[in-house]
Formats: sequence, C-alpha cells, structure tokens
Amino acid sequence: MKLPKDQILDIFRETKALLEGHFQLTSGLHSPQYFQCARVLQYPKYLHLFAGEIAKHFEYAEVEVVISPAIGGIVVGTEVGRMMGARTIFTERKEGRMELRRGFELHAGERALIVEDVVTTGGSVFEVVDLVKQAGAQLAGVGYIVDRSNGKIKFASKYFSVLQMDVVTYQPEECPLCKAGDQAIKPGSRGNY
Ligand code: ZN
Repeated sequence: MKLPKDQILDIFRETKALLEGHFQLTSGLHSPQYFQCARVLQYPKYLHLFAGEIAKHFEYAEVEVVISPAIGGIVVGTEVGRMMGARTIFTERKEGRMELRRGFELHAGERALIVEDVVTTGGSVFEVVDLVKQAGAQLAGVGYIVDRSNGKIKFASKYFSVLQMDVVTYQPEECPLCKAGDQAIKPGSRGNY
C-alpha cells in the first residue's frame, strides 16, 4: 500500500521541503507553494522511507543497475541502489548534453532502473532513457519521489511516483495573492529561508 498523501505532505511541511505562502519561482511564475525536495532527503529516516517505496515497487523488476540524473537524483538513487543491492551510477550534463562520466558504464542487456527526486517536465529522465537505450541496456522502470507534472508526463516503460503533487502557478499579472496586496518572496535568495 502506498504511503498516504496527507502523511507525506506533513513530512514535507515539517522538514520545510514544502513552504506555503507567496513565492516567485525561478520560472518567474508566482505560486502559493514552494517545494525543495533536497530538504526532506537530508534526514536519513525520510530518505529511507521514500527510497524504500521505490525499491519496494520495483522489487521484482530484476534491477541490476540504478541510474540517476545529477544532481537531484543522486541522493535518492544511491539509497534505492543500496536497498536493492544494485550498482548505482549517475549522469551529468556537460555543455547541455547528458552523459555518463567518471568511468561509469551501462552494459548491453543490463536491467536499469532510473531514479529521480522530482519530475516536472521529465526532460532529464527522458535523456537518461536515451542513454540506457543507446547502451543496449534494458529499462526496468522509472521511479521518483514526486510527480509535479500534474499528470502530464508518462514514461513509456513502467513508472512509479511516491506522491503526485499538484502544482498551482500564476502569471504575475494574474496572481490573486499579488492582487490581494501581498508581495511574492524569491525562495533561496539571501535572507529568505
Ligand atoms: Zn503573486
């Protein structure tokens, strides 16, 4: 059984991974929520809990290697790989292109599970899917903690998210919070959180 959504959201709030208020996102859009997954994953018990959901889901997928896109996917990918007893590697972007570096390799026929923290557009994951295919490896599935695509992203193979989190955003000129006279905060900027 999946972890109840309310329980997960409570954990996100408690660890300040999820902030509620009025935010200007890096996209320039305004939102009543700000989410930073890394904040919850700094706590071993929660990292273990969420990675465990992914590992459990793919328990019978005969995963031989876990592969994650840097940077967000590395922490959760490492924990999933550890729990599954699978070799764990990550991809990095160099000059805009996703690559395996550091001598990491995917082997033909190897069963690969892609693990990511948050999927919004799915861009990084789709690039890792291409790397898996190019290597002649088999895609065992895609597992991630949070689906923020509002149900829009579907990966061809088996995919699983621990939580689907709806994202509300507004164009600044249409933002009801601005209209109410409130000023948006840029999260991560100096002095704010
Ligand atoms: Zn606003």
